[in-house]
Amino acid sequence: MKEEQLSPADMARMQLEKAARVMNLDPNLLTILRHPKRVVEVSIPVKMDDGKVQVFQGFRCQYNDFRGPFKGGIRFHPEVTRDEVIALAAWMTWKCALVDIPFGGGKGGVVCDPTKLSDRELERLTRRFTYTLMPLLGPDIDIPAPDVFTNEKTMAWIMDTYSIFAGYNAPGVVTGKSRTIGGSPGRREATGRGVCIVARKTLELFGETLENKTVAVQGFGNVGYHAALFLSQNGARVQAVTDVTGGVYREEGLDIEDLGRYAREHGGVAGYPKADPLPGEKIFGLPVDLLVPAALEGQIHSGNVHEIQARYIVEGANGPITPQADEVLNQKGVLVVPDILANSGGVVVSYFEWVQDRMALEWEEEEVNERLRKKLERATVEVKETAEQYHTDWRTAAYILAIRRIEEVYRERGLFP
Ligand code: NAD
Repeated sequence: MKEEQLSPADMARMQLEKAARVMNLDPNLLTILRHPKRVVEVSIPVKMDDGKVQVFQGFRCQYNDFRGPFKGGIRFHPEVTRDEVIALAAWMTWKCALVDIPFGGGKGGVVCDPTKLSDRELERLTRRFTYTLMPLLGPDIDIPAPDVFTNEKTMAWIMDTYSIFAGYNAPGVVTGKSRTIGGSPGRREATGRGVCIVARKTLELFGETLENKTVAVQGFGNVGYHAALFLSQNGARVQAVTDVTGGVYREEGLDIEDLGRYAREHGGVAGYPKADPLPGEKIFGLPVDLLVPAALEGQIHSGNVHEIQARYIVEGANGPITPQADEVLNQKGVLVVPDILANSGGVVVSYFEWVQDRMALEWEEEEVNERLRKKLERATVEVKETAEQYHTDWRTAAYILAIRRIEEVYRERGLFP
């Protein structure tokens, strides 16, 4: 299939099939894992501020729950598709298994442009979406979290709506909430912190450190901002950042906190006066040590992969590299640290949040961060060892580890009926 015709779900399937070949997976299990358990499409009627009713399209994919309740974010974006949601739900399944937390994989999305909706409209949209999905959600069934253009506030609306209909307070139905309503310390920063932990450990395994390494980051939202922040706090020089508004470059390294303040005030990084402007598409060709794509899927493809000079790519976003580009990078000897490892910090701390909600207690932030560090460092070492054992790339190795864990459960539980 031509690369431009590849949907994210095709990409996810190709990655799964490659791992299945390398690990010699039971074909029956592969057949099961190629398909999502359930995908629902819903119509969400919303009364807009002008009094007119608009109907939005929403999806929730519950990909696999062999290892525990479905877990995965909800995305609000004009380009959300059923297919994209399926791919993201598959990636969540492998991610949760890879870092060994008792969840399956799910993902949701609503086709909308949140930048054009008022707060009240977003609230009505979120609440109606939750109400429509009500029978499919629950702390033991399916637990959403934030993703692109959704945040703590979105999670509060979901939790409140669910709790009203369930008839009890159910903080465990979502993660990524604010602390006031049962969120975990450290959750907001967790994905970016995880990117940094995994990058640091990867370098360490090759006898290097983050000190003075040059970095370029695509995307300056929750993941990109925190990844850039922690990498710079760990001694790296984040030279370039781009977002949907444009980009900035400073050879000596950017002051990430200052750039973050500017981006919040101005709606993006473009025009930041303490650095040079950088056209968005130039981000991948910079001569940096580490590249962190932290925006959307399919950003590195056959058309731009040859520009890449970085030695390491740490995938903050889900699916930022097409399978074709992946092959080119593997041949060039660029180490790609795959999304299901590199950005798993968010779901790991989501798991910690869910555990705290169920126990009705709050851990100290140091405890959360320390548990996160241990889990991600262990997973990074395991991925490297598996890659060496199977003579394969890190993405395939990460899939092999994840699928083995799912296979163990499948063997024990058997297939109904
Ligand atoms: P976000 O909405 O907070 O930020 C997205 C960023 O990407 C914004 O800065 C936006 O301007 C930028 N962007 C969008 N299109 C772009 C383009 N074409 N070029 C450059 N920049 C562009 O979203 P987020 O939560 O940071 O998620 C980013 C990625 O990380 C997604 O792939 C998401 O699935 C993944 N992810 C998020 C989490 C999490 O905890 N938030 C966890 C795991 C993975």
